[in-house]
Amino acid sequence: MNSVAGIYILQQVDTKIDRCRKRMAEIQSTLDDNRAVVEALRNVEEATGLMESAIRDHAGIQGEIDIVASKHENGEKRLYSGTVTNPKELKDLQDQGEALVRRIADLEDAKLDAMIVEEDCKERLEISSRNHDEALHERKLLESELDTERNVILDNIESLEGEREVALNSIPEDLVNSYEVARSKYRGIGVVLVDDGVCSGCGLGVSTGHIQAARSGHTIVTCDNCNRFLYVK
Ligand SMILES: [Zn+2]
Repeated sequence: MNSVAGIYILQQVDTKIDRCRKRMAEIQSTLDDNRAVVEALRNVEEATGLMESAIRDHAGIQGEIDIVASKHENGEKRLYSGTVTNPKELKDLQDQGEALVRRIADLEDAKLDAMIVEEDCKERLEISSRNHDEALHERKLLESELDTERNVILDNIESLEGEREVALNSIPEDLVNSYEVARSKYRGIGVVLVDDGVCSGCGLGVSTGHIQAARSGHTIVTCDNCNRFLYVK
């Protein structure tokens, strides 16, 4: 096998390795993107906060109702105890009792509103918890799928590295160096096949002289247009 054929094989192996590495990077960036789970958790935390505040509001109103109700009860006891005989005092007690009843009614309304808010918050918390669970589940599936794919790719890379070593053995070192330079210059593709008289790197026609020279495999022939090494089968 001549050297150009050797670097053409090397190029094919390197292209496969590049593809593998590119896919590995894509997988990594997919795994790095945990936004869905983070967002879902943020929603749960927000809903939890709202729920706690709704429970506190409800309890606060209930506490106030209890205080006002006990005040009312004491007033009523006093009113009907027979110990208060002064008509003015009795009238005050009665008025106070009525005011407390009105206050309790207002508080009961507020309590009802607070219960409705609490119910809404509860529902929101349930929905966001469910969404979070789903996001976690999907994340787990994705991780396992990508892990499997990553292992397959790592195996591929390993065997391609072996192929690369073999290919390198048939190529003089200076040619390998020029190939690496060409590869870094031309987006990873340093050697291209001449297919039906056309450079498969840039798509332009290659002269017959170039094709004949490249076919001999003894000299390095480059494409006049894209400068890549030409390989003729
Ligand atoms: Zn070309």
